[in-house]
Amino acid sequence: MILRVGLTGGIGSGKTTIAKIFEVLNVPVAYADLEARRLMNEDPGLRQDITRHFGGEAYAGGTLNRSWLASQVFNNPQKLELLNSLVHPATIRAGLEWIQSLPSDTPYAIREAALIFESHSQAHLDFIIGVYAPAPLRIHRTMQRDKTTREAVLQRMQNQIDEEIKIRLCDAVIHNDDQHAVLPQVLALHQQLIKKSRS
Ligand code: ATP
Repeated sequence: MILRVGLTGGIGSGKTTIAKIFEVLNVPVAYADLEARRLMNEDPGLRQDITRHFGGEAYAGGTLNRSWLASQVFNNPQKLELLNSLVHPATIRAGLEWIQSLPSDTPYAIREAALIFESHSQAHLDFIIGVYAPAPLRIHRTMQRDKTTREAVLQRMQNQIDEEIKIRLCDAVIHNDDQHAVLPQVLALHQQLIKKSRS
């Protein structure tokens, strides 16, 4: 059986950067954010649900009107929760289908997602890796990457559970804090997961 591994962490912790290293090791990786975007555009049931709850403006010219939808949920926790409650089950379903489509001799596959615990998808995973970096570094990285303000980053952070709690819920932690070398940590976990997949 292919081991289902989650890779999570707060905004700017370095999830995507670390997921790319696993990809170099030939580990299949699915990115929940990209998957969610694809499904919001392509999944007929999800499109219908979003249109029913948010109105026809959610799709402009047949494609998802992301900026309009973002403006609807920005600063509105109820609407954000509603959107997540529509999108998360569809992405979890697609994730399971993806794992089943992989060659059966694949030892493990990774699902990279910021909101594994928030979306209750841990039940569909066998092992969860947390990527840890302290908040000031995460804010700095995200401001640089997205060319955005501290306030905008803090706003996005509010939708995620506390980093310290999240990391404690994980089975293993990669310290991506500019103090620890990342590659040896990834390689050690890679070996651990291959071994675990055989047991
Ligand atoms: P988000 O949840 O916002 O998508 P993320 O956790 O996927 O963020 P990344 O996009 O991987 O984070 O990293 C955030 C930024 O920090 C990127 O610009 C990335 O290049 C940089 N970064 C991540 N890890 C390191 C590192 N170890 N050294 C230098 N830069 C890094």
